[in-house]
Amino acid sequence: MEIKFERFHLQSDFRSPIGGSEVISVPTEVRIDPLTKRRSRIITWALPPQDEFDFSKVARESKGCIFCPENILQKTPQFLNEISSEGKICVGGAIGFPNLYPAGTYGSVVVLCGDHLLTLNQFTSEIYEEALSVSAEIIRRTMDFDPDARYWQISQNYLLPGGSSILHPHLQVIGDPIPTNEMGWLLDNSASYYEENRTLYWNDLVQIEKGLGKRYITSIGKVHWFVSFAPIGFNEVCGSVEGGTSITTLGQEEIASLAKGIVSTLKYYYEKNLNSFNFSIYSIAGETSYQLLIRIISRTPFQPSYLNDCTSFEVLQSELTANIIPEELCREIRPHFP
Ligand SMILES: [Zn+2]
Repeated sequence: MEIKFERFHLQSDFRSPIGGSEVISVPTEVRIDPLTKRRSRIITWALPPQDEFDFSKVARESKGCIFCPENILQKTPQFLNEISSEGKICVGGAIGFPNLYPAGTYGSVVVLCGDHLLTLNQFTSEIYEEALSVSAEIIRRTMDFDPDARYWQISQNYLLPGGSSILHPHLQVIGDPIPTNEMGWLLDNSASYYEENRTLYWNDLVQIEKGLGKRYITSIGKVHWFVSFAPIGFNEVCGSVEGGTSITTLGQEEIASLAKGIVSTLKYYYEKNLNSFNFSIYSIAGETSYQLLIRIISRTPFQPSYLNDCTSFEVLQSELTANIIPEELCREIRPHFP
């Protein structure tokens, strides 16, 4: 097996809507992910440019939420004694506690800071360093208590288009004894690649991308940042951590590198007038052929006439779409990284 970057060039021809005989040709590219073999459709005309959205009204109306400093310690759930006798796990301004509405065996929330709402250029590396440190500590203590819970996601859904009903910046830390679909695909395909090549797919991919130079952004410590060949979302940026599969085994330097990459990506999104995003860190313990991955995508911006970015392609055809040519995204985002 080798790493193949396969693509199909599709083209749609039609006559101009303003009459005459001029034929207009619109290209679309379908790319196959080299690991999972999933198809991704690059549709660059899909969304109109956005204006910056004024958040002052929505922030004013929702301020004083359950995650705001005056409520968070009194009104949110406490961890079981086996995990934290203090009830909460805190590092700096980040506070972790169990989710009142968990979606699995272990569901926690990590509130990033006391600010009720941040624009994407206001998130700092320190904020994420603290929040990821709390997340790692939650996972570490939970796994000491229940070693079978080795499949974890640390995810952020930011603002309503990202799927969050609460504006206040927070992460979800969710752990189970079984993987999600995405984790299963990553693990199964990484294992097949290892069996065939006796090398790690993720190391090989980084080496190839570095050599090609078209999608590799930079390395920050042991974290390699790149744009996916076949993205599964808009403006997708990935980071792969050399030598780690679970966030619990990472040192402070790697946590800080993850934080820097997230913040660099969000600054780029801000410049593009984007305000909503998702990311997931796939943190899986006890795997030899996998390396910890973070994937960050933007969502259609939160605004009065909101346009959902999941169409029948994503929800019914299982064909994922991206709105920028990956190589162009890499070229644009590179200057935003340290
Ligand atoms: Zn709040």
